[in-house]
Order: sequence, then structure tokens, then C-alpha cells
Amino acid sequence: MNIKYNEDLIPYLYEGVYVVDTKRKIIFWNSGSERITGYKQNEVVNSFCYNNILQHVDQNGKQLCLAGCPLQKTLEDGVMNEAHVFLRHKEGYRVPVMVKTLPIYDSNDKIVAAIEVFTDERFQKQIYEENVQLRDELRTDALTKVANRKFFDFQIEQRLEEARMFSNTFGVLVIDIDHFKKVNDTYGHLVGDEVLKIVAQTLASNVDKMDLVSRWGGEEFTLIIHSVNKEDLFKVAERLRLTVSASSYTPENGENIHVTVSIGGSILRESDTAKTLLKRADDNMYFSKHNGRNQSKID
Ligand code: GH3
Ligand code: MG
Ligand code: MG
Repeated sequence: MNIKYNEDLIPYLYEGVYVVDTKRKIIFWNSGSERITGYKQNEVVNSFCYNNILQHVDQNGKQLCLAGCPLQKTLEDGVMNEAHVFLRHKEGYRVPVMVKTLPIYDSNDKIVAAIEVFTDERFQKQIYEENVQLRDELRTDALTKVANRKFFDFQIEQRLEEARMFSNTFGVLVIDIDHFKKVNDTYGHLVGDEVLKIVAQTLASNVDKMDLVSRWGGEEFTLIIHSVNKEDLFKVAERLRLTVSASSYTPENGENIHVTVSIGGSILRESDTAKTLLKRADDNMYFSKHNGRNQSKID
């Protein structure tokens, strides 16, 4: 049989690639296959895949090399097959792989071989999970576990775009803890950190899934509250303010520590940028501070 591989490329494919002839004798085995299965080329080439070296099993534990071999099927009907199977690594453990089998024809359109390409799903899953973890870390404030300022800045631009596209609106809240310096001075910085965490988690637990709570910096939080009007935004602000004042942190052998917050908020206007919207909310927060703290002002 005269099959030509692109020998420059196939051996280095990340996927496992192997070829069987019509008798299911393995005639090609690339380095991806070696890496995923642990079997070297010289241990596998010239053996028959039904010798059950790889012992492919499906999700129900059915031995596919003995009956139901995807390569055998492709050799018979010329149809491409795709299956999630588990192969046996040389060291004995099972590796989940995605298998694709394709027929190889000669110049007379006769099937002369079949190729199997398999991808290590364990590896893909691991990369995916690592990516998700990294992404979450990049978005999250390490101390309080709410979103960080970077993610807030990104989100507010997205919401602005959405609001313009769909003619909807949203509000922002700026929330600053009152006399927080006194907490640090009285109980120490570490206790201050714990109080910050309590406030952040209280805010995060009392908004809607579509809203966003972020730590803007220090003891200041910025929130995006989706599709609201001025009255509703005020209600949200007051609910948060009262919930924070009703929460407390109790250090070991210590008294309950309560804090209050001053809140400013504003609803998106047509001419707004993120900066102008936040500036109005921030000015309102300062109004609340100067007006006696532990209150909300929205416009
Ligand atoms: P006001 O009511 O006017 O907001 O008073 P305040 O004391 O909260 O305001 P000020 O801005 O003077 O102080 C903020 C304090 O927050 C000072 C700073 O040490 C503290 N702080 C900022 N970030 C952290 C942090 O990550 N951990 C702790 N423990 N304290 C922090
Ligand atoms: Mg403060
Ligand atoms: Mg502050």
C-alpha cells in the first residue's frame, strides 16, 4: 500500500494520530500518541488494534476494541466517526479522549486504511479550569472577593454600550464606610480588614445577580445596579445602608464592631460617560458625608 503522510507535520501534532490498514494493523503512530498513551512507536507499530493494547472503553465500560471499534466501522462504511472514549495509558490509568476516525482512499476510491485522531480531554479540561481560575483572579479583589476596580471599569463601559444599543438604563452607587480610620485606630488594621470583608459580602449578598459590586479602593465600593429609575435606586441604596448598619464583626474575645456607610448614587443620563456618571454619584456620596453620614443621596 502506498500512503503518503505529510511527515513534516503529523509526527508533531499535539493530537494523537495513528493509522491502521484494512486489517487494523497499526502502521503509523505519531509523537502525540506516544505522549498521550505512554506507548512508543516501536511498541505499537505492526500490532493490531484489536490486540487491545489501548483497550478503548466507552462511558459504560464497553470494550470497543473487541466489538464496536470506531476504526473498524470507518473501514467498513467510510463514514467519519466521533466518540468520547477512555483509553488505557501504558501505566494503567484511564485517559478520557475525543476520538475521530476518517477513511483513507487509494486512487480507485477504495478504502485502504483509516486514520484515528485523538485529543486528550483531561488536558483540555485542566487548561479550561486554569483559565477560568485565572480570569476570576484577575477580576476579583483579593481581600474582599468582590470585583476589583479593573473589572468594574470594564463592566461599566460594557453596560454603557448596552444601554445605548437597547435604550435601557442603569444606576451606579458609590459607598464609603464612615469613620473607618477609627476602626483601624481602635482595633488594628487586621480587624479593619475583617470589617471590610463583612461590608463587601453584605453588599454582594443584597443585590441582584445582574448587579455588580466592586471595591473601588480602600474602604470605598462602587456598584452597578441594572435597569432602575431614581426612586428604585434610592430604595436599593437605603436597603444596603440599613443592612450594613445591622451587620457586625466580632473579633475573638471582643465586642461587636458596627460600621455605617454613606451612599451617593445616580442614574445614567444620555450625555454621560462613565466618568461623568461616577462623578455625580461621588459628589452625592460626599453630600451624604457632609450632611451627617449614614445616609443616601441619589439624583
Ligand atoms: P469618612 O467617614 O470621612 O469616610 O472617614 P474615614 O475614616 O472612613 O475616611 P478616611 O478616608 O480618612 O480613611 C479611610 C481609612 O480606610 C484610612 C485607611 O487606613 C483605611 N483603609 C483603606 N484601605 C484599607 C484596607 O485595605 N484595610 C484596612 N484595614 N483599612 C483600610
Ligand atoms: Mg470612609
Ligand atoms: Mg474613603
